Amino acid sequence: MSLKVTVSGKPIAVRPVTYDNQALFCVDFEEKGNASVSKDLPKASAVMITALLTKSQWSRLKKEVEDKGEQVSKAEFMIEGDVTVDMPMDIVEGEIGVICSQATYTPGETKGGERKTEKHRLKQERKKEGSQRPEKKFNVNDKKARLHAEYDGVCQDCGQHCDKKVMAIKERNGKEVVVCFDCAYGEKPRFSVSVKFVELLAFKTGMSMQESQKHLEEFPSSYAFIHLDKKTKTRTYWSWDPHHPILKVTYNRKGYMMDLHIRKNALLPTTLLELPLSDLWIPEHYAEPNPKKIEGHMTYYREHHSFDEPVLAQKKDGKCVLMDGYSRYVAAKKMNHETIKVEMQGEMSVTN
Ligand SMILES: [Zn+2]
Repeated sequence: MSLKVTVSGKPIAVRPVTYDNQALFCVDFEEKGNASVSKDLPKASAVMITALLTKSQWSRLKKEVEDKGEQVSKAEFMIEGDVTVDMPMDIVEGEIGVICSQATYTPGETKGGERKTEKHRLKQERKKEGSQRPEKKFNVNDKKARLHAEYDGVCQDCGQHCDKKVMAIKERNGKEVVVCFDCAYGEKPRFSVSVKFVELLAFKTGMSMQESQKHLEEFPSSYAFIHLDKKTKTRTYWSWDPHHPILKVTYNRKGYMMDLHIRKNALLPTTLLELPLSDLWIPEHYAEPNPKKIEGHMTYYREHHSFDEPVLAQKKDGKCVLMDGYSRYVAAKKMNHETIKVEMQGEMSVTN
């Protein structure tokens, strides 16, 4: 049996994607839980939910919004569907995926009463329609999906948790089983963790360097291998555990970590400041950044009048130590800037 959910509100993002050669739309929501539950119960956690809509479902919603003279970016929707947990993370960016069976535009956002009536009306309508369900395009009951489910998504050679997209069917002891892409084709690189990412994780979460290193080293073998880019051979690993500080990690073909996503609930609070460049202290082990990277940041700055991201710094022994964004810092220096936007960890009073 599938789990049905309803998400409603203003989406935080709408993204066109391609899945199984189908053009689809991902609509991301952030759900914070119901305010009317009893005080005695614990609070529901904030969850990001990605609803998957067909192109025609999305076009219909968009048209309804436009016909009302509203902007799509401000419109609210209600989406009902079945929960999926085995879609690749580049499609379902949220913690939970929902395969849309019913999508509705819910105009009249501000007044709670009206909203309720609208929702109530929709509910009643649906009751009348009975239990007819739209066709399920995603539950392709192919052999791999069946075996993937049968073996809980675990490689029968090495025990790696995997999305079915990075698994292959192989024969073991006269039986067909699923094994990971690496065991099937012998392509697993040696993963390495650079100091930069250890520092970044420690900085952003407040964990010790040792703890951060351990988390990063264990990550690809402890959690799920969910995506492999056939062309570039970049691979992504994802943690399903909502209490694990790391959400996902991407490695290049050589096994070097390229990208680290930390779970929102693991992040320490930060303050955004504009600081004089001379106030930042640069750790000695920082290598001179790649000139192309610096040039890229300078071009970006000239076009947007700001960098794509602030640099990260932390107050240590009375100094503002730069933790990430050295190439932006160098670019700012080259452009003779006096100050730079800094995301500062912890308490920090603004002087001057
Ligand atoms: Zn394996």
